[in-house]
Amino acid sequence: MLKWIQDGGHGGNDPGAVAKGNTEKIYTLEAALYVDKRLREHGISSDVTRSSDVTLDPSPRTAKVKQYHKGISHHFNAGGGSGAEFIHSIHSSGEFEALLTEEFKKESYPVRRTFSRKQSNGQDYYYMHRLTGSCRVTIVEYEFVDGVNSEKIKDRNYREGMYECIVRAICREEGISYEAPGRGNEHPEPEEQSNPSEEYPVPQINLVRGSKGEAVKQLQRALDAVNFKSGAVDGLFGPKTEDAVRRFQMVYLPHKVDGKYGPNTRRKLISVLKLNGF
Ligand SMILES: [Zn+2]
Repeated sequence: MLKWIQDGGHGGNDPGAVAKGNTEKIYTLEAALYVDKRLREHGISSDVTRSSDVTLDPSPRTAKVKQYHKGISHHFNAGGGSGAEFIHSIHSSGEFEALLTEEFKKESYPVRRTFSRKQSNGQDYYYMHRLTGSCRVTIVEYEFVDGVNSEKIKDRNYREGMYECIVRAICREEGISYEAPGRGNEHPEPEEQSNPSEEYPVPQINLVRGSKGEAVKQLQRALDAVNFKSGAVDGLFGPKTEDAVRRFQMVYLPHKVDGKYGPNTRRKLISVLKLNGF
């Protein structure tokens, strides 16, 4: 099994890019730890260059990366653009970066470009490529901290959706079947797991357009209660109910907008009912 290394691009006295309420080092450490954990959940060998917010100089950092076969150096960009950038070594084909691009696009995350960059002496421009030996390193710039999506990236769900794209691409490359994050082994959110409101119980089953019955009525009442009106409470999951679910997801689950009522929407609906005092 090949060994992966996750490099949080900044930390300690190097904050990386800081703009519009976003601090790069916070996201890059989060990304490295997230992908590392998810790979190990899949049985893929993975490690991190730093596991907390500490300063790590280029030389011990590249020395560590060198000991692995493949790596991601996680970054957020600055300079006012939008979309992800995947940067590979001049000695690499870019095949893995093509998988990353596909996975980001599948989840509707903007992708700006894939590229490699050479110095005038013909060597790789970035030291993460130049000084890491035979380790194939991809520098991932997820988004711009100061660009049009500077607000979106403050949402952890939005960021984690991008990290999952990395996990899926790695699974594809390694020939491992991808498993979505399991309930309970993600970040536990106890307030969202507890019993639903007495006044507005939420359905415990999945519902989609065409579903009928008491569970649909529960869903319609609960959505109405948090101001996502779905028309009459008639127990029919039609276009208006689907639209209400979709509008709810656009606000609270921007990465999972499908108009269907499933586990993620249920958990979020419970927590939003609570926030509204129900
Ligand atoms: Zn960076």
